[in-house]
Amino acid sequence: MAPNTLTIAEAHEQLKGKKISSAELTQACIDRIEKVDGTLNATVFRNFERALEEAKKIDTKGEFTHPLSGIPYLTKDVFCEKGVPTTGCSNVLRRKDYIPAFDSTTTKRLKAAGALSLGKTNTDEFTMGASTETSCYGVTRCPWDTKRVAGGSSGGSAAATAADECLFALGTDTGGSIRQPANFCGCTGLRVTYGRTSRYGVMSMASSLDTIGPLCKSIEDIAIVLETIAGKDPLDATTSDVPVPHYRQALSGSIKGMKLGMPKEYFIKGMHKDTEAAVRDTTKVFESAGATVEEISLPHTEYAVPTYYIICPSEVSSNMARYDGIRYGHTTGDAKDLIDYYHRVRTEGFGNEVKRRIMIGTYALSAGYYDAYYRQAQKVRTLIKRDFDEAFRKVDAIIAPVSPTPAFTVGTHENDPVAMYLEDVFSVSQAMAGIPALSVPCGFSKSVTPGFVEGLPIGLQIMGPQWQEERILKIAYAYEQAAEWHERKPKL
Ligand code: GLN
Repeated sequence: MAPNTLTIAEAHEQLKGKKISSAELTQACIDRIEKVDGTLNATVFRNFERALEEAKKIDTKGEFTHPLSGIPYLTKDVFCEKGVPTTGCSNVLRRKDYIPAFDSTTTKRLKAAGALSLGKTNTDEFTMGASTETSCYGVTRCPWDTKRVAGGSSGGSAAATAADECLFALGTDTGGSIRQPANFCGCTGLRVTYGRTSRYGVMSMASSLDTIGPLCKSIEDIAIVLETIAGKDPLDATTSDVPVPHYRQALSGSIKGMKLGMPKEYFIKGMHKDTEAAVRDTTKVFESAGATVEEISLPHTEYAVPTYYIICPSEVSSNMARYDGIRYGHTTGDAKDLIDYYHRVRTEGFGNEVKRRIMIGTYALSAGYYDAYYRQAQKVRTLIKRDFDEAFRKVDAIIAPVSPTPAFTVGTHENDPVAMYLEDVFSVSQAMAGIPALSVPCGFSKSVTPGFVEGLPIGLQIMGPQWQEERILKIAYAYEQAAEWHERKPKL
């Protein structure tokens, strides 16, 4: 088996047993990127020489005590990495090649563990989107069918992981951006409880919703990365000192007697019949493992998209204010005055989706409309959170689809932003409630229907109460080990 196709856990065993060196593992990922990334466009910056240098140092030391030691990975292009261009895939930073003078906390923790950064992956501009089509570097393609999108916004990280360009990748999830691309590309992705991982040094989109997390080839790998990056960070006041459990140890326990809820609001008109069938079919696997599945209700689900698309743009409009062309980023020479300068920098630097959100958010927060939109949305957010509180009194975890269909073709929603927003119908509620949720492969499309073909990955979403990553990982692990969908690879 080519070393780049290994999981972290498998590669770690081989490194420890001296069956393979970190330099060989790193070179295998580099070769793979060079072979397939011209088609996928998952990477936007490559740091191969440095990764190889670091790999050789680790090989010389020969200590592979940490499971991430000598393991190559890729990072979504919104994580600051000292000395490495970081652009948010936006022209506002790309034109000036913003190079951070510091590491994000996650980068720092991964470095300390001995993981090797191969470079940066593509994302929707400042993570706004569900298809990685709004990036200034162009679209990332789905490894299972390159006419299709990889999902978004962490589409680069998902495609790279699924195509074995790396052993794992980092992403961010504000309203689905880890889970949805993992589901489109057939890998595994975890959105953590708000505050479980540090966001220090990661470009903000919507601060009350942003989380950062891993995309991997297996649940065990998710546990390994999470253990390494989770926990209190004095540099991010929203992180919590809730202890970080040994996630990997918790995986193998039985799920016998666990109660799982399937929300009826997550099966809607217009969803792909194979998505519905694959998700409903998981019941059999859970039942044979001794768990029960019952129908539940999350009654405010229908308000999730409209609520999110008030709160998220409001916070975006504030976070994007820093890109004014004065401290860093794109500049322009011939402005009449300061206002004209801001106007030109932001007109030239931002793409349409970012501009649209700045406008919606500024409007929703303005004096005359704040009560009608923003305050109202915050109240509905509380109701959505209460739906989950209520549900978790009855069930241990919730299972549902991640999105209504498998990967759609590039350009499907080009002229219809609202249709693109509706892609998020199953992935924004968890973000507003601040709960953990993951996507694990649960099948493939089987039939040809308008706009879709056979053989596209489908993911199962598993949600748990706040701080219960351990529980959802255990459930996902039991499912994954029984179903084995994660072992299929795209032919590229
Ligand atoms: N698709 C959602 C949006 O466009 C989620 C993005 C994200 O999680 N970063 O806002």
